Amino acid sequence: MNLPPPAPGGSPSNGLVLVVEDERHIADIQRLYLAREGFGVHVESDGAAGLAAARRMSPVAIVLDIGLPGVDGITFCRTLRDAGDWTPILLVTARGEETDRILGLELGADDYLVKPFSPRELVARVKTVLRRGPGLGADTVVRLGRLSLDLAAHRVLRDDEPVELTATEFGLLAHLVRHPGRVFTRDQLLAQVWGYPGYRDTRMVDVFVSQLRAKLGDASPLRTVRGVGYSAADPGAAGTKGSPS
Ligand code: CA
Repeated sequence: MNLPPPAPGGSPSNGLVLVVEDERHIADIQRLYLAREGFGVHVESDGAAGLAAARRMSPVAIVLDIGLPGVDGITFCRTLRDAGDWTPILLVTARGEETDRILGLELGADDYLVKPFSPRELVARVKTVLRRGPGLGADTVVRLGRLSLDLAAHRVLRDDEPVELTATEFGLLAHLVRHPGRVFTRDQLLAQVWGYPGYRDTRMVDVFVSQLRAKLGDASPLRTVRGVGYSAADPGAAGTKGSPS
């Protein structure tokens, strides 16, 4: 294949992306296009080596195939999150792997891409998960009910105790909490939090809302507005409208 030229300047200034992919030609394309965008890229072709590389190299993001020899992508996600590693994960899935995709999101992946994908789409997704990651955003602290969100540090405190959230969980919560009382449709949330137009599977939003509720418990400000979408309100405030379930 004809390879496009490397990025001008060539230095991987955007940080290291770990690609875990057993199909060589797909890994080559991922490496190429991410490198052109100024990312350093390290490729591993099986899950166990990928996990070791994630621990060793502290990448800024991981592009993770679900179907891998040895440790599969789902186990990879679970292992990493169980170890308290919240590096953004972009799952790469084949058509027909919908159940695995949802499971992967529930186990802490941030987003997914369905094969075949365009390299442009891959790059856009990686940039989006990184935008939701630590170190970006305003240097303000937003409070709602018993929650306090540090938008710069991407930290959430519930009653002054830290709650561990993935980058995407944080991004969704922050978006709703920054607009208390405002109702967003699932399509709006996909566009505004994930950065996609509305063609994506809106159940993804529901998966992340239920994960946030599980982690935040009765301090969760997330409200279901039936037939519309979601909003955030102080669960302890009198007269707040909407269903808590
Ligand atoms: Ca594979």
